[in-house]
Amino acid sequence: MPKEETVNLALRRGLFYPAADVYANAPGGFWDFGPEGSKIRRNIIQLWRSELVEKEGFVEIHGAQILPEDVFKASGHLENFNDPIVQCRKCNSLNRADKLIADKIDDIVPESLATPELDKMIEEHKIECPKCKARDFNEVKKFNMMMRVDIGATGDQPCYLRPETCQSIFLDFKRLYQLHRGDLPLGISQAGASFRNEISPRNTLLRAREFGQMETEIFFNPDKIDEVPQWGEVKDYKINLMLLGKKAKGISCEEVAKKKIVSGKLVAYYIARVQQLYEKYNIPVEKMRFRELDKDEKAFYAKETWDFEVETDLGWIELMACNYRTDYDLAGHSKISKKDLMVNEGGKKFTPHVFELSAGIARTFYVALDLAFRKEKRGGEERIFLDFPARVSPYLVAVFPLVKKDGLFEKARELFEELNESSFSVFFDEKGSIGKRYARVDEIGVPYAVTFDYDSMNDKTVTLRDRNSMNQKRVKVKELSEILWKLSTQKLSFKDIK
Ligand SMILES: [Zn+2]
Repeated sequence: MPKEETVNLALRRGLFYPAADVYANAPGGFWDFGPEGSKIRRNIIQLWRSELVEKEGFVEIHGAQILPEDVFKASGHLENFNDPIVQCRKCNSLNRADKLIADKIDDIVPESLATPELDKMIEEHKIECPKCKARDFNEVKKFNMMMRVDIGATGDQPCYLRPETCQSIFLDFKRLYQLHRGDLPLGISQAGASFRNEISPRNTLLRAREFGQMETEIFFNPDKIDEVPQWGEVKDYKINLMLLGKKAKGISCEEVAKKKIVSGKLVAYYIARVQQLYEKYNIPVEKMRFRELDKDEKAFYAKETWDFEVETDLGWIELMACNYRTDYDLAGHSKISKKDLMVNEGGKKFTPHVFELSAGIARTFYVALDLAFRKEKRGGEERIFLDFPARVSPYLVAVFPLVKKDGLFEKARELFEELNESSFSVFFDEKGSIGKRYARVDEIGVPYAVTFDYDSMNDKTVTLRDRNSMNQKRVKVKELSEILWKLSTQKLSFKDIK
């Protein structure tokens, strides 16, 4: 189970909660994000967009969520996107065969194992039905995880909800390549929902049936995999790689490229950018690793895969797959659609290769929340706060009038509106004691709070409070915007405010 306190906080504050839960029969694996939860979620996407899309010169699309069956014939999902499931003969409950075995032997069971292999392991390891404890199973079967949707009145156009956001990117590639003046490399990104009919959704956001992905497919000329114009920016930067059978360790991009640990500099460069992005979510580098997957563990389309994982109380959680997909997807779509998806560069015609960075939005949310959770005792009182960076927290600042009377409310409201118009994300609260108001914004991770009190009426200063240290400073109202901007962009730390 996820660290209870994190999930309790999320439920208590309505950051996320089960979808349609007024109905007892609502299926599991679907989640709603409440007001502050959806702000945090948006900020997580926005940080990715700013750091890993716009700064890299990628383009972003918004593709349709329902796509025709041929797309998934070409992508291989109809044939290969299966989970091995096994049914108990006694109580009829269904389970993922690989997970049952993995839980029992406490080791990874490759998803790609053939079903007879799994039958054998179930026998060998004396696996029991988790529900009724019987040891009587039907043969393991492959279950396709895509959700089918029938389109049109006659329902004769089989379509599917996309199981990953990237297929629209492959379908749009040629069009965008031409719009992009026929230049490679070309990165195409998308953030949106994907759907998988998980047999046993669990661990709240971590294994859901509808989930957000933020993905980029980088199309490049395979002959130029070592040509990275911005290489100088990362070459001495150390990425935490976990090579097959080894412990994770920081290796500089230069060394990674020299020793040919990855297929080329382009791969090392983007892995470095991913690690730098997650540092901005406040994930410590020592809790991150890129785990090399071996043949059995990789997805069917990948030549090389590095799973980006973060350590939490639940163990290592996969947040992003970094896949070298070669020309698998474009070649597949070209074959089934009979459209030419090749490009021409310097007189040579070829199908571009693809390096993919595919991250889970809710997983990133969960991990950022889990690692931001703080509980401490101060002066005999316990408090909980979320140590979110300013760019992730739902609001940058809260504005409170000390009391509602004597004109303080109106003045505080004016200040709130002024900050709001300066494009800061601001929260206003006038209800309850100041202490309770601080506690409330601490629990949703708001880094700063401003209190407008009686002195403010005379000397035009307000109290600025720092969430983590709980320290307070008196600052001039007219300097507040600039101070907040500097704090939020880390050009100033709270203790250095004069
Ligand atoms: Zn059973």
